[in-house]
Amino acid sequence: MNQNNPDLIVIGGGPAGLTAAIYASRASINTLVIEGSPAGGQLTITSDVENFPGFPDGIKGPDFIAKSRQQALRFGAKFVEDNVVAVSGDATGGFVVTTQDNGGFNAKTIVVASGASARWVGLESEKRLIGKGVSACATCDGFFFKNKVVAVVGGGDSAMEEATFLTKFASKVYILVRGSKEQLRASKFMFQKAMNNPRIEFKFNSQIKEIVGETKVTGVVVTEAAGISKDYSLPDVEGVFVAIGHSPNTKFLQGFVDLDKLGYLDVKNNTLTSVEGVFAAGDAADHKYRQAVTAAGFGCMAALDAERFLTKLSDV
Ligand code: NDP
Repeated sequence: MNQNNPDLIVIGGGPAGLTAAIYASRASINTLVIEGSPAGGQLTITSDVENFPGFPDGIKGPDFIAKSRQQALRFGAKFVEDNVVAVSGDATGGFVVTTQDNGGFNAKTIVVASGASARWVGLESEKRLIGKGVSACATCDGFFFKNKVVAVVGGGDSAMEEATFLTKFASKVYILVRGSKEQLRASKFMFQKAMNNPRIEFKFNSQIKEIVGETKVTGVVVTEAAGISKDYSLPDVEGVFVAIGHSPNTKFLQGFVDLDKLGYLDVKNNTLTSVEGVFAAGDAADHKYRQAVTAAGFGCMAALDAERFLTKLSDV
């Protein structure tokens, strides 16, 4: 077990975890952030963050994370770059957070801000162009595609929502659905809304095969698999939005706290999990808003609740 065990462990180094760490350390709580490895969360793969108040000229995702981290360090928070593999214990006896490479840490309370990860198709070209025209967040990056043609990959409600949102900027949005119209996963309402939008064109039975371009997107190649498979190109596409779902990073909590059917933390009264003394923040508990600013606000609430919990413990 590690020496210097903190009062509070924050699991996660994205906007939720870092905001929790800023609030807690500024309130003189001995705070350790286990920030994940690689550290920083989803913002480290975003290009510009233009919708976080206070940055009128926008800020690069990684810079935003670095500055927030610096702010937490200034108030005395400590950091470990590692992944949590398990959490155990309870409010009375304290908690143990076990990491992959640095062993276990004891704490009196925990804020879980481990985030979620976008699912990706898995293409080499997709990996190369993430942040350079390939994105998993229309709200974050749609603005950069004013009057351009983009493609959305996916056939669920997220894809319908992202595509509809993108028509505010893009001149045309293709939705690449790998299955047929009859098998579409999206709800009827969301589908109809997208269908009725004159800027959206559905391409069914269409699996994305390749995103063209070295440093920016200059088209996509799609395999159409209806009857005889054949490839076709959409050379006018300059942006690709992958909307095939998100997975919360909560595997290490299975059996310890209650998770909902999608694997997100089940919370009550804003930040309370099913285990007293364990608080939730950010995308690990939110599949609806998923924004840096909402995650940061959520992190603040969790830190305040953890602080109240610690005060109550010391009163006993
Ligand atoms: P879903 O799991 O519902 O849909 C994922 C989609 O991605 C499916 O069409 C799936 O195709 C497709 N897909 C998966 N892997 C690949 C791949 N490798 N290549 C191409 N396509 C792929 O995820 P969503 O994020 O859309 O939704 C998650 C949940 O959130 C749902 O319950 C949804 O209703 C909800 N939601 C609600 C919203 C709202 O009400 N406003 C908005 C967004 C989401 P296939 O069907 O062939 O497997």
